[in-house]
Amino acid sequence: MTRISPDGATPAMAQWFTLKAENPEALLFFRMGDFYELFFDDATAAAAALDIALTARGNHGGEPIAMCGVPVAAAPAYLQRLIRRGFRVAVAEQTEVPRKGRPASKGPLARAVVRVVTPGTLTEDELLEPGRSNLLLALVCQQEGGRGKRRKDAPPEGADQLGAAWIDVSTGLFETASLPSSGLPALLGRLDPAEILATAGVELGDYETRRAPEATLPAPGSAKQRLAAAFDVASIEAFGTFSDEESIAAAMAVDYVRRSQAGRLPRLAHPIPQSQNGVLGIDPATRASLDILRARDGGVEHTLFTAINRTVSAAGARMLAEWLASPLTQVDAIAARQEGWWWLKDHAARCAALRDALKKAPDIARALGRLSLGRGLPRDMAGIRDGLAAAREAARILAGQEGAQAAQLPTVLAHAIGWLGAARALEAELGTALAEELPARLDDGGVIAAGYDVELDEHRALRDNSRRLIAALQADYATRFGVSNLKIRHHAQLGYVMEVPVGASARLKDNPDLILRQGTASTARFATEELASLNVRITEAADKAAQREKLVFAELTAKVLAERELPELAQALAVLDVLQSCASLATGGTWCRPEVSEDTAFDLQGCRHPVVEAALPPGARFTPNGCVLAPQRRVMLLTGPNMAGKSTFLRQTALAVILAQGGFPVAADCARIGIVDQLFSRVGASDDLARGRSTFMVEMTETAAILNQAGPRSLVVVDEIGRGTATLDGLAIAWSVLEALHSTVRCRAIFATHFHELSRLVDTLPRLCLHTMAVREWRGQIVFLHEVLAGSAKKSWGVHVARLAGVPVGVVERAGRLLRELERAENTIPEPLPLFDTQKTLPPPYENTLKKRLMEIDPDSLTPRAALDILYDLRRQA
Ligand code: ADP
Repeated sequence: MTRISPDGATPAMAQWFTLKAENPEALLFFRMGDFYELFFDDATAAAAALDIALTARGNHGGEPIAMCGVPVAAAPAYLQRLIRRGFRVAVAEQTEVPRKGRPASKGPLARAVVRVVTPGTLTEDELLEPGRSNLLLALVCQQEGGRGKRRKDAPPEGADQLGAAWIDVSTGLFETASLPSSGLPALLGRLDPAEILATAGVELGDYETRRAPEATLPAPGSAKQRLAAAFDVASIEAFGTFSDEESIAAAMAVDYVRRSQAGRLPRLAHPIPQSQNGVLGIDPATRASLDILRARDGGVEHTLFTAINRTVSAAGARMLAEWLASPLTQVDAIAARQEGWWWLKDHAARCAALRDALKKAPDIARALGRLSLGRGLPRDMAGIRDGLAAAREAARILAGQEGAQAAQLPTVLAHAIGWLGAARALEAELGTALAEELPARLDDGGVIAAGYDVELDEHRALRDNSRRLIAALQADYATRFGVSNLKIRHHAQLGYVMEVPVGASARLKDNPDLILRQGTASTARFATEELASLNVRITEAADKAAQREKLVFAELTAKVLAERELPELAQALAVLDVLQSCASLATGGTWCRPEVSEDTAFDLQGCRHPVVEAALPPGARFTPNGCVLAPQRRVMLLTGPNMAGKSTFLRQTALAVILAQGGFPVAADCARIGIVDQLFSRVGASDDLARGRSTFMVEMTETAAILNQAGPRSLVVVDEIGRGTATLDGLAIAWSVLEALHSTVRCRAIFATHFHELSRLVDTLPRLCLHTMAVREWRGQIVFLHEVLAGSAKKSWGVHVARLAGVPVGVVERAGRLLRELERAENTIPEPLPLFDTQKTLPPPYENTLKKRLMEIDPDSLTPRAALDILYDLRRQA
């Protein structure tokens, strides 16, 4: 932004300059009556982004001031567009009420920034996606130096240690983690934060665009103290053990939220430190290839989330997304979720009733978020009331006639019921406090029911009586002034006036009881003393009623916020919604309850890809496939042509793990899965060319990531390693990677390839098994059966696929002829290819003499002179 000097500004513009200087990174929405106005570069940027008219207002420094404005009533829609385009907006409101008789010499009305709207600190429904969390993530990086307290899951000394804290301002969720910096990409992929506060030096990769402009680091000591003060406890250790980095990140996030809300902190749950150990590791490339919450096309339609989502509430959808994004690795925790939905599936009638009750549950967490910021709408208060009613109903349904104690409910359901009983008194109170029909805004009046607050009722009665008196005056005046069609009307500027046709006004003009206030072509408007005094009474009573109503609403808000168990109640409703969603899914019969165990079993029978299945054209049937990666046969080599269904098979296997460990039903006839600690999926061409890396480079980087990170409990599914380079090169790489997965990493793996030659490795790799996609040739055409069979592909089908894809006939026929010639030629090459002649051809391990010599040196016992001699010696050898 070009800097404009505030010198010589008008008083209002001087105010603008002050507020803008406090918020240089944000567009300033400057409240002027019914509009938010933007000036200078802010106006130019906003007018372009919003496609609204750019005008000019007054002059500054001899130049016209660029200006645009948006109506206050329509502001949320404009804010939404600006935030989506990456802007931040500081909202400056008038903090002084304009009063009659205020001297102009007092200058412009006082204004202050009441809020900075940023992507990670939103609360309004209009700005949020109902079924998605909206996270602000704070990241702090410190070189580990033995400083501060270390968590058990901290990385080894010397590694970069990251502290992370994330907050959803709209729901109050607040969690922290301590992790090595190598774990950051996975955390970013899992949380998908809307905005990131990160200290310099923290690399955000693809998420760089979500970095907030500033990140000021609080000192570690003060971080813990300030956090403790924010939550009103003596020490934050009350909530668990936090590393220094974690608490700094948490304090940074809290400070930022507080600043964004002009010093006011919304209600936040206390921070919960998360161990990264209990969560299935899914790296970003895996996440991207599996379309879990978002598809590669950016949409949500073709995702695992959409395929399994049967939730009926926004909070339930958010929790489902959270469970899908971070499946578990503890058998007990997974089993607890399974037991919950299994019970609901067995009690179908109760499950259906529960679903109906949950449909009526509004989004309590987000309503609480707005209420805690003083931004609560009447419908938020009603949301709490209806949410409490739904919770009571849900508890009643679950407990059934036997009662919760006797019903032998699974722990997860019994635990939820425990919370659903919270805040009964509040529900009753809101029931009597709120009017039946609620207006959209508190300012519209009529939010609080009659009979709830005596003082409010009195003001309203006075206001309504006076209105009735006025209505009665109309008939009275008609007779008194002899004008039969005389009307008493309310006029925005004049208040109540008597309105007569112009014809009658000449006669009434001189009447001493009447004061002519306004004349138009057809009517004349008169005031009387009686009307004037009633006017005053009505206005005063209406003002008082409005003020009183706001006070009562504020008191109710305080009562709602005082109910400490409401967030847990909201959480319990969300859990129930996810569990009923699972039960609904499983009721179809084509989903199973997987057996999840501590060993390394892997046996899927009749498994399907839920997203591909849902997208098949009408009449097409998905062919289910089994997948067994038993300890003795834990690496599968899968061959078969393109389009035969290889990627679908690979992905469905990975998705089965995510579903099973998330505690969800799996799209299979039956499934047995030994806990997977990390999932790696590289399926389908990942297109990273835009970032200037060749396909092959990307492929190798991803292969390196797998080989360096995967362990014996991991599951790796990879497609066409080595495709991006020359045949022999590619074959050699694919071969050695397969060997490494089999013998070094020792994980469960499916390795899909075009290199049929690799099948021969089954003789040397004992845990390798061969599978191929069934293909049938029929009248020179190929038919894909999408079936996975034991064995390996006998031939390539590339030429057939080329025909299928519409490559001109001449080219396809020529390719066919060439292929036959090549195959003949290949048969004359002696078998086995020297490349496959493994150990014999490998050179002996290279002995690094320099390293050996270095290792022999004991630096502590060396004199400087001796060290120098060694250096000269080493240099000579090099
Ligand atoms: P490949 O990876 O071998 O090229 P894909 O897995 O992409 O093949 O599958 C190609 C198409 O075949 C898919 O888009 C889908 O429509 C269909 N398909 C794949 N697997 C199955 C299956 N098991 N049952 C039915 N149709 C399938």
